[in-house]
Amino acid sequence: MSGGPADEVFTVVDVGGTTLRVGDYDPATGAVRRVRRVPVDGLHRDPGAPVPVLQRRVVEQIVREVAAHTGGRPPRALGVAFAGPISAAGLVLAAPTVWGRRGDPLPLGELLTERTGTPAVVVNDLTAAAWRYAATEPGDFCLLTISSGIGNKVFRGGEVLLDADGHGGELGHWVCDPSPDAPLCDCGGRGHLGAVASG
Ligand SMILES: [Zn+2]
Repeated sequence: MSGGPADEVFTVVDVGGTTLRVGDYDPATGAVRRVRRVPVDGLHRDPGAPVPVLQRRVVEQIVREVAAHTGGRPPRALGVAFAGPISAAGLVLAAPTVWGRRGDPLPLGELLTERTGTPAVVVNDLTAAAWRYAATEPGDFCLLTISSGIGNKVFRGGEVLLDADGHGGELGHWVCDPSPDAPLCDCGGRGHLGAVASG
């Protein structure tokens, strides 16, 4: 053991469509503490802004919130759960609830590693949740979440099932009501599962 308590915890961030949360994760106990919530500086706050502008703002916001959380010191390690598919190469390929339209793939982990001076790992938020349950769940399982969107991840044989582009369980925009007056989805389409069944 070396250093004080601050050296023994990781800084963790959850970026959703509405809220950014930052906290301490203690790997010894599995506890998350000192959680702070702020509105995400994305689509929800400025629906008209172009995707590259929102991407920059969200990166700046994560850097700023992490620095505020750690009192300006580089965190020991940084883990980010993000609401969008992440490729095997670490690129955020889309973030419909955070910056809307697809935009250019964003190397979020690389950018945060450069900016914070700490190795940053970025994973899809549902993938992160599946790993959290895998810590206590001995068998294979499927995790479903229903919040502002809807989706699932399958954990099988010690890993989350994803393709090379990070896709797996993106069922929210599946058309389940083909009628012309079906409920309108956030994405602009109609009758999508997310429009019918999510928050
Ligand atoms: Zn949709």
